[in-house]
Amino acid sequence: MYTVDFLNDLNESQRKAVEYCDGPSLVIAGAGSGKTRVLTYKIAYLLSQGMKPWNILALTFTNKAANEMKERIGALVGTDLACRLNMGTFHSVFSRILRVEAATLGYEPNFTIYDEADSRSLVKTIIKEMQLDDKIYKPASVHSRISMAKNHLVMPAEYALTRSLVERDREQRMPAMSSIYSAYCERCRMANAMDFDDLLTNTFALFNEHDDVRLKYADRFKYILVDEYQDTNAVQQKIVWQLSKEHLRVCAVGDDAQSIYAFRGANIDNILDFEKIFTGSCTFKLEQNYRSTQRIVQAANSLIRHNERQIPKDVFSRNDEGERLVLKEAYSDKEEALIVCNEIRRLRREEHCEYNDFAVLYRTNSQSRSFEEAMRKVGIPYKIYGGLSFYQRKEIKDVIAYFRMVVNPDDEEAFKRIINYPKRGIGDTTVAKIAGLASVGGVSLWRVICEPDAYGLSVAKATMGKVDAFRQLILGFMEKCATSDAYSLGVEIVKSSGISADIYADKSPENVSRQENLEELLGSMQEFVESRMEEGRETEIGLSEFLKEVSLQTDIESDSGEEDARRVSLMTVHSAKGLEFPTVFIVGLEENIFPSMLSMNSRRELEEERRLLYVAITRAERHCFLTYAKSRFRYGRMEMEAPSRFLRDINPDLLKVDKAGGSMLPFGKSSLSSDYGRANRWQNSRPVASQFKADLKPREAVHREDPPIANTFSPSFKRLRAVASSGGKHASPSVSGLSEGCMIEHERFGIGKVIRLEGNGENMKATVQFENAGQKQLLVKFARFKVI
Ligand code: ATP
Ligand code: MG
Repeated sequence: MYTVDFLNDLNESQRKAVEYCDGPSLVIAGAGSGKTRVLTYKIAYLLSQGMKPWNILALTFTNKAANEMKERIGALVGTDLACRLNMGTFHSVFSRILRVEAATLGYEPNFTIYDEADSRSLVKTIIKEMQLDDKIYKPASVHSRISMAKNHLVMPAEYALTRSLVERDREQRMPAMSSIYSAYCERCRMANAMDFDDLLTNTFALFNEHDDVRLKYADRFKYILVDEYQDTNAVQQKIVWQLSKEHLRVCAVGDDAQSIYAFRGANIDNILDFEKIFTGSCTFKLEQNYRSTQRIVQAANSLIRHNERQIPKDVFSRNDEGERLVLKEAYSDKEEALIVCNEIRRLRREEHCEYNDFAVLYRTNSQSRSFEEAMRKVGIPYKIYGGLSFYQRKEIKDVIAYFRMVVNPDDEEAFKRIINYPKRGIGDTTVAKIAGLASVGGVSLWRVICEPDAYGLSVAKATMGKVDAFRQLILGFMEKCATSDAYSLGVEIVKSSGISADIYADKSPENVSRQENLEELLGSMQEFVESRMEEGRETEIGLSEFLKEVSLQTDIESDSGEEDARRVSLMTVHSAKGLEFPTVFIVGLEENIFPSMLSMNSRRELEEERRLLYVAITRAERHCFLTYAKSRFRYGRMEMEAPSRFLRDINPDLLKVDKAGGSMLPFGKSSLSSDYGRANRWQNSRPVASQFKADLKPREAVHREDPPIANTFSPSFKRLRAVASSGGKHASPSVSGLSEGCMIEHERFGIGKVIRLEGNGENMKATVQFENAGQKQLLVKFARFKVI
């Protein structure tokens, strides 16, 4: 038992919510009111009351959020307890359970997790094989229908029998939808692969069809906590129910005003249904916002008041009154980016902030480009979240496909990706033949090439030789997989497959960037092995463990920089959920961007967009800037849009308007009420193109007078270049003079004394006592230290 002094960190209502453990509870509260804090402290409280960490399951929206929560709990009750908690996203927690229980569902434990691109590619293949028109059956929209069906637990058999769905598809000239869906599921199964949705639906099926398994986990997870409950979908809620219906020890926290994932099947009503499903649940409300200034909270409240569907809340702040929100108009997207850069530099100077005190939030990923360019130009270091994540880049996907084949050779998407990459003379016709036979035989493509005669594969002898060489290559890697660490095998695969020869063939700019990416990948594998060693998890350093981590990386989580770096964060509003920054810039506040063009037709979707802006504003602690550009370069041409209608929803008394051409409000002060039909009202004030051009030049010149700061932007590859020796040859640098008792300096841990050396060659390990980082075990071959 621990003392629970830490409960003094909470206010009265938070404390009540934490201490209530007799039954299900729901905390509904506005942004910044301490929901996540309640969850964190509740876990610490449960631990202090003697509950075992492995009996607690906490589900968060991102894995990063889980790690931060774990750290905080560690600080409250000790890291020994915190590190044994079951914590993570629904996807990561349940994918681990699915691996353990794979056999029950007829899967192998090494199943591959298909990402969005794999799923689309499979859909595309099926559409082609079924000889359907891919202009009608667009792979992306077919896949999103499949995904929606899964998220509502409508499996193929039921889909085909659901009249409303079948009729909708027929009306939209897609009568084959249900056959595609069913083929898609079969093919995933054949490839021993699950897509992201399967991680949830299969978990549901596992618990639904195997009560013994369900009971095992229901008994293990004696307390279940869910953050951001407003964004869970039907399957996720059902899983929570399956695991808790006996003990009913569930605590969910959320804010209906921040529900922003309806497009992925999340349902705002979930939070209301909670009280129906978990009868007798106790509801707590928190109303004091601790994050933001009073004016920021009031501005956010004035905005969200325009939504009809919401649970009434009265959020207030006792922090400083703060400044008004600043609304800035720019002539162009370029100027908008410069305005943001200038404000960052000014605030940094005047308020002594760090770069990581700033966030730039936009509606869609593609808006990041102008900010990246401007920041690079003036030397502001930034970190960009989402977008084309690192693991989606072609060269990285190619290498990862090799890894996937080695771990799960039945993986169809990986097979197709690498059978002829690097080019080895196996053409599309051969691959199509193999795929055809696999389909007829009901087996994977790999099985067909393992037993070509049994499945009747007939190709020219020379081609057969090439196919067999490919098989041998993969088999060779598979053999090593059990004994090699991820990094060593990764290096070997890159070399022996011919990828390095291909990528290092010349120094063309695109090859150099591929080389950097490849080195970054190998560097991250090295770091993976090293950190697992440090944690004493030496049995978990193989390629399959590495893949498990990588395949759960979602777009939201990926970022291009190092973790704790002092950089400005660039991200979409969706990815900013749950986060907070002293200064926030919400950019691109124009019609057709924010709200997005696709949401204009229905009140429901517009309300979701408004919630999204509410989320954005409530990320800010001290300063909140809103910007819009009168013109921007989009879709290859100059577009002009009116300022966002949402700007009119914010109480004008809380806005300071800084207009490009003067200081007038872009709208009447009295126009507080929302009106969906009024977007056109702005059209009269749109600048004509010639005017715009005349205006732009002198303005840009003004900005250029600002002396450019030396380019301090350092790409995250810097460290890796130091690690990975040049030319792609990942040789093991020797550490001369290394002996027991000598002093070393490590890149990350600083100065330390070598107290033990064990093993030799590839496997030599050094145990080092660092001055500031404690004792660590290091693999000498990585040599990220020098003897001093
Ligand atoms: P969101 O809706 O954005 O997810 P939230 O309701 O989860 O917000 P938290 O992130 O838990 O809110 O808290 C917001 C900020 O207020 C955090 O910095 C947190 O540490 C701080 N905070 C919350 N409660 C208190 C308190 N009682 N005393 C001091 N600080 C608090
Ligand atoms: Mg939160």
